Amino acid sequence: MDLIYVLVPLVVVGFFAFFILLPRYGPHYVSRIVCPNCRKGFNFHWVPGATLASLRYGNRRRLKCPYCGQVNTFDIASTRVSQPKAAHRA
Ligand SMILES: [Zn+2]
Repeated sequence: MDLIYVLVPLVVVGFFAFFILLPRYGPHYVSRIVCPNCRKGFNFHWVPGATLASLRYGNRRRLKCPYCGQVNTFDIASTRVSQPKAAHRA
């Protein structure tokens, strides 16, 4: 059957849209996170319920700080901001 040759591209396109396009252009939240180690803030874009991590950790995410590299667990629900603020002082 050639059905597999139809399904595989559909799944690939679906994954691409779901994990790449949707978080970037679709409805998503932005959390303003402050690293507890170096006290520097950064924005984290996330889609509710879209990742396996959200199923495991709920509203908590383990993120690596882009400045000092330390991995911390953040509550992205409580730090959520309605509109992404321009980070002039990063
Ligand atoms: Zn840090």
